[in-house]
Amino acid sequence: MINLETPRKFRGLIAQARQVAGQYYRPISRKYDLAEHDYPKELDMLAALLDGMNAGSPESAGARTSKRQSSEHEEGVRNGSNLSTCLGIMELCWGDVGLLLAMPRQGLGNAAIAAVANDEQLKRFDGIWAAMAITEPDCGSDSAAIRTTAVRDGDHYVLNGEKIFVTSGARAGAVVVWATLDKGLGRAAIKSFVVEHGTPGMEVTRLEKKLGIKASDTAAIRFSDCRVPAENLLGNPEVDVAKGFAGVMETFDNTRPMVAAMAVGLAKASLDRARELLQDHCALDYRKPLLSVSHAEAQLYQLEAEWEASRLLTLKAAWMADNRLPNSKEASMAKAKAGRMATDVALKCVELCGLSGYGEDELLEKWARDAKILDIFEGTQQVQLLIVARRLLGKSSKELK
Ligand SMILES: Cc1cc2nc3c(=O)[nH]c(=O)nc-3n(C[C@H](O)[C@H](O)[C@H](O)COP(=O)(O)OP(=O)(O)OC[C@H]3O[C@@H](n4cnc5c(N)ncnc54)[C@H](O)[C@@H]3O)c2cc1C
Repeated sequence: MINLETPRKFRGLIAQARQVAGQYYRPISRKYDLAEHDYPKELDMLAALLDGMNAGSPESAGARTSKRQSSEHEEGVRNGSNLSTCLGIMELCWGDVGLLLAMPRQGLGNAAIAAVANDEQLKRFDGIWAAMAITEPDCGSDSAAIRTTAVRDGDHYVLNGEKIFVTSGARAGAVVVWATLDKGLGRAAIKSFVVEHGTPGMEVTRLEKKLGIKASDTAAIRFSDCRVPAENLLGNPEVDVAKGFAGVMETFDNTRPMVAAMAVGLAKASLDRARELLQDHCALDYRKPLLSVSHAEAQLYQLEAEWEASRLLTLKAAWMADNRLPNSKEASMAKAKAGRMATDVALKCVELCGLSGYGEDELLEKWARDAKILDIFEGTQQVQLLIVARRLLGKSSKELK
């Protein structure tokens, strides 16, 4: 059974991540919020440091080690890399979500590789920095509708199509691209391919200007007769119509708790700063009944409760992945709850802090802008609720749209 205490073995990692957030991310947060599309070069040294700290350790604060655990050699309850990754991300996003997303070798594509790759691929792609490209101009929430094609030609697959809104799509060394082997076979034919930058036929066509997470690049990429080695197809190349979409979708079971963890970290930053700014007006005495405290105090208590609920759902979803328990429903619950919570909490903190909340002297206004994406990417709020409803009611995606 899950233990709600933070495992002792992760406390060092959490402390390190908090240090990185406070001492490295926060001081450059505003700089890269204002200089959208400039590469945060400070991250290179930091990434090298983290690589060194994580070398030989199965636990880390990044996306790269998050994976579905093998239970063959494990007995009993396990607190593994999904949980440690989420705990680390919460701390790092207390610092800056955009900078975390821009960290070399910690892309969502890395989590996809960790979730779906076979042992040979895990070894071959170790140390790579990979973005993840699913979304297309006519395909967002309905990822089964992708049009990018992959056609086998000898030892290669030939990719054609366009991907948009690819986080780290220009800076990462590779992109994990979702493409269909045969549109006629529906979702079962969708596979993911690791395409390295520099492969002829792959071209970054645009960088987006955004509301928030401006430190992170968001690219549009075109694939024109792009030849990718056949061994770069992640996982099983067979089209298993019975298994359907399950192969590539497993990625989301790992990445949605990670996005939820980002939301938990950002909301904590907003709450902490709001409490500091309001300390002369809000006594925050938790022994007093809610009806006898000020409106601002009551609101802060309510936001804290929402935050705690989101944090526990996130840890549960990650812990289930570590223990090889099916967690699609819990991953979506965590993402839905935490994504909405972070947007609400960050905006409410802006409101409670008045001019300090809205002005650029504080990071609160930036966090309110950064928060919104956490309720959109890796599946929007509405789509997460739909997935939860399907799971609870035992309905397929055809039966409940
Ligand atoms: C900054 C940023 C970074 C991103 N990074 C990546 C990335 O790295 N890789 C990647 O592949 N994608 C990425 N995305 C894309 C993101 O995942 C999509 O934007 C998201 O999945 C929604 O797709 P859409 O924008 O096409 O909206 P649509 O699918 O067109 O949806 C529009 C609205 O309709 C709602 N909706 C859709 N279907 C339903 C339904 N069945 N029931 C109820 N409501 C519904 C949605 O919730 C949404 O509110 C990124 C997006 C942004 C903005």
